[in-house]
Amino acid sequence: MNYNTKNYDYLIVGAGPYGSIFAHEAALRGKRSLIIEKRGHVGGNMYTHKEHGINVHDYGAHIFHTDNKEVWDYVNQFTEFNGYINQVVADYKGELYNLPFNMNTFYEMWGVKTPDEARAKIEEQKKTAGITGTPKNLEEQAISLIGTDIYEKLIKGYTEKQWGRKATELPSFIIRRLPVRYIFDNNYFNHRYQGVPVDGYTAIFDKMLDSDLIDVQTDTDFFAHKSEYLDEFPRIVYTGMIDQFFDYQFGELEYRSVRFESETFESNNKQGNAVINYTDAETPYTRVMEWRHFDQKADDGYTILTKEYPQDWDRSKEAYYPVNDERNSSIFKQYRAEALKLDKVIFGGRLGNYQYYDMDQVFNAALKTVAKEFGE
Ligand code: UDP
Repeated sequence: MNYNTKNYDYLIVGAGPYGSIFAHEAALRGKRSLIIEKRGHVGGNMYTHKEHGINVHDYGAHIFHTDNKEVWDYVNQFTEFNGYINQVVADYKGELYNLPFNMNTFYEMWGVKTPDEARAKIEEQKKTAGITGTPKNLEEQAISLIGTDIYEKLIKGYTEKQWGRKATELPSFIIRRLPVRYIFDNNYFNHRYQGVPVDGYTAIFDKMLDSDLIDVQTDTDFFAHKSEYLDEFPRIVYTGMIDQFFDYQFGELEYRSVRFESETFESNNKQGNAVINYTDAETPYTRVMEWRHFDQKADDGYTILTKEYPQDWDRSKEAYYPVNDERNSSIFKQYRAEALKLDKVIFGGRLGNYQYYDMDQVFNAALKTVAKEFGE
């Protein structure tokens, strides 16, 4: 450890949005932070890099969307957004459907043209499937929202490969992330504010962390010197995996991972959309992103496509998604109780809180923590 720990008010573990916002706000209040980050770059999974004028999202497509005006105004201090609206197309064995589930999808699936016809179709399928009462899992929730045809073609295969388990063994809230609407509207999100930063996400972090009161050490693993860090720093913000922090004493939490394969083509438009989901069970990837369609500022003649493959998680891989089923939730509660006993450490972010957070939720949580920390 090649620094004087006495100079710092905070040690921040992880340079993702939670840790970076905290450091930025602490600096504005005259407090000094050291951020340690085990990867070679800042930004966490929001990290992007530029190739052929195209912002490539290294950890999968990130579209900022929120209803929270405070969060939107906050993030807009650091970047301009480009007005991108996510409109995903699903490919089921060569049949194309609009997502999320809306009148276009219902028309494509059944030829129905009015909301009443669509509702009647869904009700009929729900009844035939015998779904009544509160849905107990993702499959029941999906059928009860949009019927069996859409469930079979657009949800089951995608979900089971994405999560590596049966839809009947997954919590219903996961499918409620997607809107269901009875208007012709392909916007993937229901939020009022949406977009992608014009210069990519990394530029946000470079700006956020540009302060004399913030030092960042990349390629630095907290666990190499955990006890020294805990002894020497007055206060710690930890955004890594909560189970690892506690040495897995209540068991290992499960995560889902993904890996990416990218290819550059000499073309201006290969797939005609920013995101195409492959919703059958057999195609090994879940979706393909064509990055130039996220901001249309690419150099002429090049396009980059990235395939996203779900994979099992183990300690050698990046943890992307918490698996918030009953088993993991009850283990997490035990860790959470331990975390609350540690006055010196604040746990935050997707991994520190074991929550399937979107970016705006992480921003909101970080701002709330800042307000509490500084008694505002
Ligand atoms: N989902 C699906 N079919 C799709 C897209 C999504 O069944 O074509 C389900 C799937 O279970 C997924 C969940 O909806 O995990 C949430 O999708 P979202 O796009 O929000 O996932 P993320 O972008 O966070 O991976």
